[in-house]
Amino acid sequence: MVIARKKLKKLLIEEIMARKMRSIANRIKDVKPSGIRRMFDLAQGVEGIISLGIGDPVPAFDTPDFIKDAAKKALDKGFSAYSPNLGFVELREQIVNKYRKEYKLDYGLDEVCVTCGGGEALYLACQALIDPGDEVLIPDPAFLTYPPQVSFPGGHPVRVPVLEENEFCLKPDDLLEKITPKTKMIILNYPCNPTGAMMKKADLKAIAEIAQDHDLFILSDEVYEKLVYDNNKHICMATLAGQDRTIVVNSFSKTFSMTGWRVGYVLANKELTNAMMVIHQMNAVAANSAAQMGCVEGMKNTAEYEKFSKRMLASFDERRKTLVNGLNKIEGIQCIMPKGAFYTFPSIKGTGMSSSEFSEFLIKQAKVVTIPGNEFGEMGEGYVRASYVVSVERLKEALDRIETALAGKSK
Ligand code: PMP
Repeated sequence: MVIARKKLKKLLIEEIMARKMRSIANRIKDVKPSGIRRMFDLAQGVEGIISLGIGDPVPAFDTPDFIKDAAKKALDKGFSAYSPNLGFVELREQIVNKYRKEYKLDYGLDEVCVTCGGGEALYLACQALIDPGDEVLIPDPAFLTYPPQVSFPGGHPVRVPVLEENEFCLKPDDLLEKITPKTKMIILNYPCNPTGAMMKKADLKAIAEIAQDHDLFILSDEVYEKLVYDNNKHICMATLAGQDRTIVVNSFSKTFSMTGWRVGYVLANKELTNAMMVIHQMNAVAANSAAQMGCVEGMKNTAEYEKFSKRMLASFDERRKTLVNGLNKIEGIQCIMPKGAFYTFPSIKGTGMSSSEFSEFLIKQAKVVTIPGNEFGEMGEGYVRASYVVSVERLKEALDRIETALAGKSK
């Protein structure tokens, strides 16, 4: 009797679990778990591992003290309550001033929404604009959250190949080819994660014209705006496509080295900002109050920021050159010099391995983490993403290990 009851209970639990699994929404079930996580899981516990997999500048350059101090002071002054949904006026003023000063753009305080990182800003833009069935053009390869962000509200991600021979820049003609009557938006991200590519002004202009001709929105993810090398200059897409149809996403994560603080923002026309604010209000409510006050100081104290930024950029530049030059000396690997962000996207086609095989091989045989390029879209097959946020010494060590492991393989 007792055994029968136990059996019944077990069956009931199994049935409940199965039903629970069945009830997870399809749009979530269909999202492939991030391959970045899989690589980190593989690397977990491997002693002496060097990670070229991370996209976080903080371990190399902690958040500047003047920003931390401002956030600490804010806490002492009682900034423990909610901020307004759009974010503190002081911070929005700084953001509006920045865009006026740097790009001659004219945003109102009600055209900025401070968010929980750039990630939430992307989410808000997609939720506010995409209806089921809408098509959204996304370069391939691209940052891996874009396709799910588009799918969540029922949109269809349409990938536009970008090629190494074009330095991973999106070609306006390739974009044009993918436009249908259902196309609603284009997602751009320059400087680019995962390729480090930056676009030429002429191509960005042509894309802006395409957007105007076909009445499309442009979601421009500009979180690596300040991480550009060789005196290149970032172009804010709103200056070319107009403030009305461009949604600019930015973040404090990378340029201010504040990934864990979770503060970003989105700039758009008033109507769209209001729609995004409603979604933000119903979810996050507002970004972290003390962190926002740290960001105010980060933007206000330009002298301190310049010092920090110069040091970080010079150091990343040295790391970039070390990694690219080192990779190009290894047989089977070829790497173009990226112009921005802190990622390289070398071709590993010459090794005869697929991207996943190569990344797994490196973890096991060289104790080096890279991310398989196909995680960023199928055009990324044959490439891996290797970031250069670790020190020059660690990069050199990683390069030695990769070379030795590959030499061992070909014996
Ligand atoms: N966009 C891109 C291209 C990124 O690489 C990242 C972070 N890796 C983000 C947006 C989101 O950054 P956060 O939410 O930390 O601001």
